[in-house]
Amino acid sequence: MKSYRKELFFEVPERMGFVNITPQVEEALRMSGIREGLALVNAMHITASVFINDDERGLHHDYAQWLERLAPHAPIGQYRHNDTGEDNADAHLKRQVMGREVVVAVTEGRLDFGTWEQIFYGEFDGRRRKRVLVKIIGE
Ligand code: ZN
Repeated sequence: MKSYRKELFFEVPERMGFVNITPQVEEALRMSGIREGLALVNAMHITASVFINDDERGLHHDYAQWLERLAPHAPIGQYRHNDTGEDNADAHLKRQVMGREVVVAVTEGRLDFGTWEQIFYGEFDGRRRKRVLVKIIGE
C-alpha cells in the first residue's frame, strides 16, 4: 500500500470564510500516484472545518448566517471559553457543527464525488495562517 501526506496552508482575511480546496486535493492525488484508495482531508485546527457541499455562493451566505445565529460571535462575554482571554468560543462551536474532516473514495485516480460535491475549508477564526492535512492511502 502506498501513502501520501501533504499540508495545505490557508490565511482567510476575515473571521469566517469558505474556500473551495478541491483543486489542491486533486493536485495532491495526482502527486500521490494512487489510483484506488481513500483520501482523508482534515482541518488541523479546532476553530476550522473541512466539509463537502455545493460550490454555490448563496449557500455559503446561508451557512454563514445560520452559523452566526447558532453561535453568535458577540457578545464575547456570553461564553465561558472566552474567560480564558480568548474571543473565539463561537469558532469552536461553529467548527463542531461543520465537522473536522472528510473522506473521499479514490477510483481510477480521481476523487469519486457525488453530483455537485466539492471540498471546502471552513474558517471560523481567521486572519492567521492555518493548516489542512491531506492523507491519501491506497495503491
Ligand atoms: Zn479558543
